[in-house]
Amino acid sequence: MAKPILLSVDDDSDVLRAIERDLRAQYGAEYRVIGSDSPMGALELLKQLKVRNDGVALVLADQRMPHMDGVGFLQEARQIYPEAKRALLTAYADTNAAISAINQANIDYFFMKPWDPPAEHLYPQLNDLLDDWQASYRPAFEGIRVLGTRWSPQSYELRDFLARNHVPYQWIDVELSANDPETKRLLEALGPESASLPVVLFPDGTKLLESVPADVAQKVGLRTRAQTDFYDLAIIGGGPAGLAAAVYGASEGLHTMMVEREAPGGQAGMSSRIENYLGFPAGLSGGDLARRAMVQAQRFGVEILSQEAVGVRTEGPYRIIKFADNNEISCHALMIATGVQWRRLEAPGIDRLQGAGIYYGGGATEALSCKGEIIYVVGGANSAGQAAMNFAKYAERVVILVRGDSLSSTMSQYLIDQIKETPNIQLWTHASVAEAHGETHLEEISVLCSDTSKVERVPANAMFIFIGALPRTDWLASVVERDERGFILTGPDLIRDGQRPKGWALERDPFLLETNIPGIFAVGDVRHGSVKRVASGVGEGSVAVQFIHQYLSKV
Ligand SMILES: Cc1cc2nc3c(=O)[nH]c(=O)nc-3n(C[C@H](O)[C@H](O)[C@H](O)COP(=O)(O)OP(=O)(O)OC[C@H]3O[C@@H](n4cnc5c(N)ncnc54)[C@H](O)[C@@H]3O)c2cc1C
Repeated sequence: MAKPILLSVDDDSDVLRAIERDLRAQYGAEYRVIGSDSPMGALELLKQLKVRNDGVALVLADQRMPHMDGVGFLQEARQIYPEAKRALLTAYADTNAAISAINQANIDYFFMKPWDPPAEHLYPQLNDLLDDWQASYRPAFEGIRVLGTRWSPQSYELRDFLARNHVPYQWIDVELSANDPETKRLLEALGPESASLPVVLFPDGTKLLESVPADVAQKVGLRTRAQTDFYDLAIIGGGPAGLAAAVYGASEGLHTMMVEREAPGGQAGMSSRIENYLGFPAGLSGGDLARRAMVQAQRFGVEILSQEAVGVRTEGPYRIIKFADNNEISCHALMIATGVQWRRLEAPGIDRLQGAGIYYGGGATEALSCKGEIIYVVGGANSAGQAAMNFAKYAERVVILVRGDSLSSTMSQYLIDQIKETPNIQLWTHASVAEAHGETHLEEISVLCSDTSKVERVPANAMFIFIGALPRTDWLASVVERDERGFILTGPDLIRDGQRPKGWALERDPFLLETNIPGIFAVGDVRHGSVKRVASGVGEGSVAVQFIHQYLSKV
């Protein structure tokens, strides 16, 4: 934990050195002693300390200084650190000024120069002041702080990124806490920069303005560049399938890297509770599963890159991946585990309010903000059911909108039962979203009721959309064979009329999870015909490693 600060201010360098020396000798073990030779410089320094979230226990200033006297300085310092103890250093001639300052300017104490011996004229009084300060001091949060507003899509994207990458942070909603004095002081200390939201403040005092996940990723040590340019196995996508392949590949001696553009865990990482994964009878959250798998992969030496793959090509036995930052790596075996992404809901207002009350997927970050609100969940599959159960813990009312007449054909029975037993979840059947309304954030939705053909306009604080998912594999179209919806074909699916795929030159059929390009494999939800489950993704990722060994033995 960073030590709290004792700040002394004096334009006379001899006096400044002497007071710093005496403070350090007595308090150096518990406090950081800082000196400044100008009141203006000291005020600037206090603002920087405020932005860094450092604690300031004492501000001690000489009364006679050019441009600003000690009393004036201590009054200004109080605006930034009201809880810090304030003391004045005075010459005998200024005693009267000091006494009236105690009354008028709320100064805690004044010391006469010279203060020798300090054990008699300085330390006893300072001990009292510091004890008093310690009694009400609460150490400040020391990690990353994110300043933004709830309805800003940029703030949402950043918070979601941090949460899903398990980076702890403190969220400060500058609108909601606009009347909080500490937030006000922080914004004042930031000055005009406080308008460049979202602002990320790091414990080392640095900050990022109008921050985007890629910049923050670099700063918090998520690797964005590969350590070497060649790997035995490279995996694109860090969902359950990619993570399983990474763990099995690396544990079996393959030099393995995995690239993930958002956060390891994939869709599973967004699930509030996975109840059907073997070995976890009480269920576990997707975030927990992702974190455990990450630790396991890292323990076996998997290199994890926070990047987006944007291209793949082959050169002889090499498979080459191009990243969004234009860097490339090559590998012998490549695994595509890019999963699926949410289908978009087409209705007026949806795109405009996305991230400002309308979200695709779980929105784990948002659940806590839904306290006492009316939440709509669109979709009737398990993912929608899990989300509804999660939001029901916080929201006043959760309404599930489905087109059909029940959930029975789309959702697991255990979830249907849980939903029935949750009084603040309501099911609205024969319903679809016709329009989303709101200026800066979602306020109402229009719902088309197919049984009555009427449109009802209802208040809504947030809407979470779970209406199925599709693979985003267009960027791989010229490389691997896909079905009409973009899912990647593998193994037996590539054999047509007994013929191996076009251009296939090997004396064997493609392996079970291999694409039409030898050495390029596809696993998990992105694969044509896959079962869309965590366990099946994990199974495919691990099984594929066996075929990779066979492939590598002949490269
Ligand atoms: C809310 C929710 C709840 C669910 N609940 C359950 C459940 O209870 N039980 C169950 O068995 N299943 C559940 N599922 C389904 C399960 O999560 C998926 O089947 C599983 O995650 C698929 O794993 P995957 O690795 O194939 O793909 P994904 O999990 O989709 O992961 C793919 C990853 O690849 C990354 N990626 C994509 N393109 C690129 C690129 N170009 N460069 C870099 N990275 C890229 C993505 O960011 C993503 O992280 C749930 C799904 C959701 C959304």
